[in-house]
Amino acid sequence: MPITTPKTALRSFDISFFDVVHAGETHRVQIKRVATARRFTLRVRAATRDVVLTLPPRGSLVRAKVFVERHAAWIGVRLARLPAPTPFGPGAVVPLRGVLHEITHCVGARGTVWVEAAASESGGMPKLCVSGDAPFVARRVQDFLMREARRDLLAAVARHTASLGVNAKRLTLRDTTTRWGSCSSAGALNFSWRLIMAPPFVLDYLAAHEVAHLVHMNHSAAYWAVAKRLVPDMDRAEAWLKVHGVELMRFGANAGSP
Ligand SMILES: [Zn+2]
Repeated sequence: MPITTPKTALRSFDISFFDVVHAGETHRVQIKRVATARRFTLRVRAATRDVVLTLPPRGSLVRAKVFVERHAAWIGVRLARLPAPTPFGPGAVVPLRGVLHEITHCVGARGTVWVEAAASESGGMPKLCVSGDAPFVARRVQDFLMREARRDLLAAVARHTASLGVNAKRLTLRDTTTRWGSCSSAGALNFSWRLIMAPPFVLDYLAAHEVAHLVHMNHSAAYWAVAKRLVPDMDRAEAWLKVHGVELMRFGANAGSP
């Protein structure tokens, strides 16, 4: 069968989104043509709080628009069900190593962030105290979490590389929405800084997972045997990420943006 080049006006139409209105709110729907798509598929992505319609390479944009409009209520309900974004301002409650902390603007040494334990009788929440001027609280919390993430990941990576007798080249923190960590063939490790919000066994598993890739750059049986030697109970961490991972995406200044 000859390969034909598409000539229809609709195919070359440069549309990348539709806006739909539901209950007085406008929602943007990204349009993506996917070579393997056979039909219209609408998804609300929790991590990025966006809506994506995938359509076949020759799918009609007119029909796509009708499809999206017919699903406006579904989109509105799905978005409304997502947890609200939580910027790092005073009063916000954020997890640190799996424990909820309340961000509190405190008087103290300029520009520092520290943890204060909960008052034991009241059973209150531990505080993440932030000093300095109020407009900089969010920035300081973000910097603090990045530093803590780096510290915990460096320690975990050092432990796992030592037990396998391998070397990691470099450790970089990123704000990724589709993967928690990665390992390059050159031995550079990347992690999402958001792992510092997860319980420590989750961060430890991610460190082990990427370190094990320094031995096998794949997910073969041999790879999993190495990973299991580092973290015998991998399933627990995988299960935690599957259920709770997306919740970590709503915190901070970039919450909800890819
Ligand atoms: Zn992997």
